Amino acid sequence: MGVSHPGAAAYAFMGALIGAVITYFNPVGPAFLALETRWTSEALAAIAEDFVPPAPAPELWLESLPEVLRTGVDIETVRVRAGDTLQDALTRTGIDASTASDIANALYSVFNPKKLRAGQELELAYNAIVVDGETPLLKMDLEVTPGYLVSVARNGDGTFAAREIITPTHREFVRAEGTIDSSLFEAAQNQGVPQDVMAALVKLFSYDVDFQRDIQKGDTFSVLYERTVTEDGRTVNNHDIAYAAMNVGGQPLKLYAFEHPDGGVEYYNEKGEGIRKALMRTPVNGARLTSSFGQRKHPILGYSLMHRGVDFGATTGTPVMAAGDGVIEKAGPNGAYGNYIRVRHNGDFSTAYAHLSRFGAGVAGGKRVRQGQIIGYVGATGRVTGPHLHFEILRNNAQVNPITVKLQGAQKLDGKTLAQFKTTLAQTDRKYAATNSIQQYAAARKDGDKVASAE
Ligand SMILES: [Zn+2]
Repeated sequence: MGVSHPGAAAYAFMGALIGAVITYFNPVGPAFLALETRWTSEALAAIAEDFVPPAPAPELWLESLPEVLRTGVDIETVRVRAGDTLQDALTRTGIDASTASDIANALYSVFNPKKLRAGQELELAYNAIVVDGETPLLKMDLEVTPGYLVSVARNGDGTFAAREIITPTHREFVRAEGTIDSSLFEAAQNQGVPQDVMAALVKLFSYDVDFQRDIQKGDTFSVLYERTVTEDGRTVNNHDIAYAAMNVGGQPLKLYAFEHPDGGVEYYNEKGEGIRKALMRTPVNGARLTSSFGQRKHPILGYSLMHRGVDFGATTGTPVMAAGDGVIEKAGPNGAYGNYIRVRHNGDFSTAYAHLSRFGAGVAGGKRVRQGQIIGYVGATGRVTGPHLHFEILRNNAQVNPITVKLQGAQKLDGKTLAQFKTTLAQTDRKYAATNSIQQYAAARKDGDKVASAE
């Protein structure tokens, strides 16, 4: 995470205040604080002896002094290592095993310490005042996700209690646009577009764009989406893309989210045509056609055979997508086909996928799949010379040429629904024009911080 949470600012402020108090009371000045951040009871006694209430408002200092000293804390940050339990991370800092165990037990009421992940940070707050050699741990904070903090604090009786601190969040639209120099990923990163948003964008355009082959230098992308952020601008999560555009090889492509009356969100181009084509002819990204449909000399058997599908060369593990919405008819080993999936899409069409190295999550006979869903991974099972996807389109249970078969066009909105879509499109265009970019938001929040800290 690396970003200090809101509490740290408060502690830093308190630290500065204590520093100011010490400077005021001690003629040695700030060096005192620098050399001795944990004060001994003798030093405190000396401060108390030297203390003379300032003339203008003595009651203010008298009142604030004990509280200031009580809230003086030292902060230590511990990074969780791979395989660490909470106790491991805590005892590494010198906390004794029994205290570490008490903290873990208290935390359990709001957060399971087993969910601790490597890289997360525990912020430990110690009493800055050493009294008779003891520097008791006051509090442990763990920011689980941006805006969601769990905190274990010591009670007056020495026991620990846990609570959750949920930072106020709000939703906001953000936009980004970029020009591809070396890769789409890099262009997106330069504009601050999160990876999950970019993955969603790639998926939206995967029916029209082959991202491995079509993207060239100078191509552009734009995206408008909503996100939930904390008050200090950290993203809690990103929501669905509202609008995405790409210009690939001079060809503009625009997609708009449209909510149907039943609540389902689908994407359409400017003409109201759905992005989901009847069937994908290439259900694997970045592959090349290595063997086409028709008569060929079989590479292993040596004699001429009808090739009833097309082969796409790709490395083992390359994801294979369902070519269309449908129901899995068969998923399992199937002789020379190796690991095989057959999906029925409608009364006429099915598709088959062979030689898979493994199946996608939840793939089994009778399960429903969506177009573009990963159903398996390229492999070399069955009768093959190397890893590839053997893909078949079947019409009335007979294999047809996937490249040339006529497939029904994209779903097109019409009538009243098309009119509603056009309204949404115009609203989305206006929203895009009026929305700040991710970088504008970041710059504004930075300026906002400066103003706040100058006060
Ligand atoms: Zn084949």
